[in-house]
Amino acid sequence: MDWNRRLAGLRDRLAAEDAAALLVSSPANVRYLTGFAGEGLLVLTPTGALLSTDGRYKVEAAEMATGVEACFHEAGHLAGAHEYLGAIAVTSTGFEAEALTYGSYLTLQEKLDGVELRPARRWVEDLRLLKEEAEATAIREAAAMVDQALARFLDGLEPGKTERELALDLTRELAVAGTDPPFPIIMASGESSARPHAVPGTRRLADGDMLKIDVGGQHEGYCSDMTRTFFIGEPNDKFREVYGLALAAQAQALAVVGPDVPAREVDQAARDIITAGGYGEAFSHGLGHGVGLQVHEGPRVSAKSEDVLKPGMVVTIEPGIYLDGWGGVRIEDMVLITPDGAEVLTHAPKPDYE
Ligand code: ZN
Ligand code: ZN
Repeated sequence: MDWNRRLAGLRDRLAAEDAAALLVSSPANVRYLTGFAGEGLLVLTPTGALLSTDGRYKVEAAEMATGVEACFHEAGHLAGAHEYLGAIAVTSTGFEAEALTYGSYLTLQEKLDGVELRPARRWVEDLRLLKEEAEATAIREAAAMVDQALARFLDGLEPGKTERELALDLTRELAVAGTDPPFPIIMASGESSARPHAVPGTRRLADGDMLKIDVGGQHEGYCSDMTRTFFIGEPNDKFREVYGLALAAQAQALAVVGPDVPAREVDQAARDIITAGGYGEAFSHGLGHGVGLQVHEGPRVSAKSEDVLKPGMVVTIEPGIYLDGWGGVRIEDMVLITPDGAEVLTHAPKPDYE
């Protein structure tokens, strides 16, 4: 991971925004800039970088990126940060509007009397959009472990277990493969698959059920995200129709996705196929999202997205069709945008149920 490039990139942003400092409080952003994955706040200035944390993280703080100092403050992380800002006498500082709590904001106002507090939006997130090779490698690795775990899980899959038991089985296979889920596994059978973000329950998997599994892994902090939908037993015509449409929509999006393509056009490519098939209303979410240190990050891949895809971005392509009282199908893969197209990072087989 190229910490120097990242810190320099954020300092360029500070200069462009005419800001004397930025208080970074989003844990993913702190990790992105320093490699530190514990609890703490980072203050970045044009020449300095201070991580304010506590005694629990002395070992981790010693392993951070070079050029970042650590302080351990008895009165808390925020105290370490505002004392530093006070000591270097800034007249203004940016804070992360999406991450700093209102309570912390009020404390800063009180402790940094006379210092202008400026809301900063996406200063670090913008840097995170374009993955370095090492980041892409970590995401690829996370995806490969999930592919492996899912294959082993499917080998042992039989009707009779509850969704919760099945989610536990898959969690165990992830651990065997060397990873952990970065978000709760979605293991939705039968009608509950109609909820895009169903929570595994006590329903027992039976012959004639569809089964929607949304699962990720993580490696060195980087996440993966993938969904597969299966049918237990011989699929009926309705399932074949809906599944076939979702699969065709995904194939079209995968054919369109690439560098310099507006993200909304990729969404449109998939949506057109589902709409033409008569299920436009049932595709109730955007086509995809960026993935990195967080499972959901920029860019947005939706009808309203203003983002244009660039080499180094990692996004999901996940069309879904959800029918209340019947069930839902989603097929999700993750791709890395490359200079001449896109590399699919998730390789678990997708049945075609023709
Ligand atoms: Zn997913
Ligand atoms: Zn996703």
